[in-house]
Amino acid sequence: MRWLTPDGVVAALAVGGAVTWGVSWRGLVLLLVFFLSGSLLTQLAERCAPRRTARQVLANGGVAAVAALFSAWPIAAGALAAAAADTWATEIGAFSPFAPRLITSGRQVPRGTSGGITVLGSLGGAAGAVMIALLAEAFRPQGAAPGSAALIAGAGVAGMVADSLLGATVQGKHECPECGARFERGNTVCHQPVRRVRGFRWLDNDAVNLAATLCGAVVVALGVRIV
Ligand SMILES: [Zn+2]
Repeated sequence: MRWLTPDGVVAALAVGGAVTWGVSWRGLVLLLVFFLSGSLLTQLAERCAPRRTARQVLANGGVAAVAALFSAWPIAAGALAAAAADTWATEIGAFSPFAPRLITSGRQVPRGTSGGITVLGSLGGAAGAVMIALLAEAFRPQGAAPGSAALIAGAGVAGMVADSLLGATVQGKHECPECGARFERGNTVCHQPVRRVRGFRWLDNDAVNLAATLCGAVVVALGVRIV
């Protein structure tokens, strides 16, 4: 597997199995489109992208899998829309001709900085959310709660915004004490083991992704009640 580590394959099979068990092959279609589109974009944007680990797979697909086990079709779709929006925003944003700006302060930040957003990336993320929303409408199982495509797309965008807000504020940031290079992961060793300079150590990119997909699920759950 070029896209997944061995434990990532196990996690992907578990997520795929849970989704298929809960909402049939229809859910698997959404999951596969999310996974394949995200992986292809990652390969395009980063020539030697690291393979996804079990942690990353669960951060992106875990909430959708749990919602699917409860047969909550639109909620699972909302979680996937958020995951797709995040992935598409990151990878399409990599092609932005302009440097990203922090979602909170608007200050220019280096590419790859958590919480940094670009116009191109945001449009790309919205397109990812719309794609999942339209598929959710097209493949909706009979008898599933409707949850309109607009609601699911909106949930995906809300998840993407939540991801950037958390990334800009509470996500752990680490720095090499010697060269000052910034890292997302606290267990990185550059010249020396990195030191935390901001945020919570345990709140890494995967935890933020998980929170973003949860946000997508909650927006749909609330929206279905209100509408
Ligand atoms: Zn260093």
